[in-house]
Amino acid sequence: MPKEIVLIGRSNVGKSTLFRELTGKKVRIGRRPGITREPMKVKMGNAFYVDMPGFGFMRNFPGQEQERIKDFILDYFEQNQDDILLAIHVIDASSFSNIAERWGCRGEVTIEIELFDFLNNLGLDVVLAANKMDRIANPDDALDAIVEKLGMLPPWKQWLDRVAPISAKFGEIEPLKKIINSKLQSFHN
Ligand code: GDP
Repeated sequence: MPKEIVLIGRSNVGKSTLFRELTGKKVRIGRRPGITREPMKVKMGNAFYVDMPGFGFMRNFPGQEQERIKDFILDYFEQNQDDILLAIHVIDASSFSNIAERWGCRGEVTIEIELFDFLNNLGLDVVLAANKMDRIANPDDALDAIVEKLGMLPPWKQWLDRVAPISAKFGEIEPLKKIINSKLQSFHN
């Protein structure tokens, strides 16, 4: 049975906060962007939660270094894909559309969209954890716009098995836990 549940996300989206909510373990201090040592793994039951380094959009960080982190993440998924039960792609839902829009103007795709496509193309099960929902006034509108940017047809509610609106900071992660549990169960039955 594949046993890794891997968390990835751009820096500052709340990935460490979510990792702590899911595992009860605090990500080591010093795991700032750019520290590409072995990712942190925490065993929970039969599964391992894995925290990948944050990527992209880092102030005071040379582009070359950001590329290196991206390559590290891509290599990890390619090399370990048989062991990966679920990839949890964490985004800051409150800023995602703005950033995607800005990059869109320059004819570029955000690293987040690129990575989301990459993971899906590898054939992995990818869940979008749309974090910081507490900062959003119209959740349904925001989520519809986000899924569309990621190539899924709105309304977002038809993707309840792939999209989890959460607020990690406030411990509101039920939709994500539901998806994880049903995935784990499907392997036990
Ligand atoms: P990481 O760089 O992705 O690991 O992000 P952190 O977990 O360190 O969080 C970055 C910032 O976002 C911190 O100030 C957190 O308190 C804040 N944050 C995390 N989750 C949430 C959330 O659900 N809502 C809000 N409003 N802020 C959050």
